[in-house]
Amino acid sequence: MRKITFAILLSLLIVLPVVPLTGCGNSGSRTTYEINCEFDGERVSGTETVSFFNSTDNSFKELKFNLFANAFRKGAKYSPISAQYYHQAYKWGDSFGGMEISYVKAGGEPVEFTVGGEDMNILSVPLKKEVFPDERATVEIGFTTDIAKVVARTGINGDTVNLANFYPILCGIENGCFYECVYYANGDPFFSDTADYTVNFTRDKKYFAAASGKKVREKTDGEKIVSGYEIENARSFAFVLSDKFQIMKGRSGDTEILYYYYSDGTPDKSLSAAKQALDFFGDKWGEYPYETYSVVQTPFVQGGMEFTALTYIGADLESAAYKEVIIHETAHQWWQTVVGNNEIKHPFIDEGLAEYSVVLFYETHPDYGFTRGSLIKSAEQTYKLYCSVYDKIAGAVDTTMTRALPDYTSEYEYVNIAYVKACIMFDYLRQTAGDAKFFAGLKTFYRENAYKIATPESLVGAFERAGANSNGFFESFFDGKVII
Ligand SMILES: [Zn+2]
Repeated sequence: MRKITFAILLSLLIVLPVVPLTGCGNSGSRTTYEINCEFDGERVSGTETVSFFNSTDNSFKELKFNLFANAFRKGAKYSPISAQYYHQAYKWGDSFGGMEISYVKAGGEPVEFTVGGEDMNILSVPLKKEVFPDERATVEIGFTTDIAKVVARTGINGDTVNLANFYPILCGIENGCFYECVYYANGDPFFSDTADYTVNFTRDKKYFAAASGKKVREKTDGEKIVSGYEIENARSFAFVLSDKFQIMKGRSGDTEILYYYYSDGTPDKSLSAAKQALDFFGDKWGEYPYETYSVVQTPFVQGGMEFTALTYIGADLESAAYKEVIIHETAHQWWQTVVGNNEIKHPFIDEGLAEYSVVLFYETHPDYGFTRGSLIKSAEQTYKLYCSVYDKIAGAVDTTMTRALPDYTSEYEYVNIAYVKACIMFDYLRQTAGDAKFFAGLKTFYRENAYKIATPESLVGAFERAGANSNGFFESFFDGKVII
């Protein structure tokens, strides 16, 4: 996600060679989703068949799925929208959605499933047969997801239909257990492993559909249109629908860029920012791995939002911020999609790296009008102001970084720690270690964690091996002792 905090930067970069990724598995050893569903104007209903591949050393007697869209139901304990944005998001008044699971089969037989967890957010599916390491377990789920009228990741608004998290998604696995995500309003409360998706999606033919994944087939059936999509090694799958979309296409290497917009006076410039970002980050970290990349203008109250091969760009942003969000969300394709992290526990990893990637982008694209020095100075000022405000209000300021979403007391605090302080941390590390070691460390981190889940320990380890984490650099930031 991209919160609007500061306009974002310059110097000579050492360009290191791009190393091809290894160890990301092949399609025979990944979980697969086959989703067949239809949007009828108010809800998405259909089935999904999930073939879970157990790549862990543990065995499982049940599978657990996050039902993120259930956070939009009436009576939910956790609101998906923070108090700061509530009225902006629910501008048409209260509206509710939710998910219903109609049946579940495991190994082809109906099973007694439960919907529970802390906030009716978890579907538990008992397996007929325990699934051991390197084995598969296949379940079929019937679901209906009601879409609330709200400007959110999942919601119908006046211009588009945002369809993220519309299907049950396997919980990410941490320490051999499925990790249950509650829908915290601050940050992106998501954590999932990568999988291969085949999605067949039916809707009224008036809707253009932006999708994660490449469209591989399409047919019109009366007033409906059915499109089929495929994508491998994706961490999520999302759609945005609109009858207003115009589409502008571009390319970055082998990737087709699709820019969906309905109100943009200079769509060529927006598309160009996406192309430059894909080109730049591809050169910097490693080739963008998907065949398509959809950049979608859509109403969204928190700037932008990343999904695999698809990003939301908030339609209300002014021109410079709009491009900055395109660059930030594009960086998330490397930091969040390819290199995953538990975004509830360690949000600073993907947000800090996406934010610092924006600094690097501007540093090498001076025509955008920012310098590295001005951006870091702006970040420092933003952060110092936050510290003094919190000091006055609360009597003390908590500047620790390795804390989870529920440990942040406000969105303001979250943004200043997970985005601003993390961005400053990466620049200070670069200043301390020098460009060669810094970029070697970051490339090592990317290569070692591609299609996996990175942790603060793996981040520190990668830079240590590159000789860049001297004198407990990271620890002083993580524990809040460093003075900025
Ligand atoms: Zn972000």
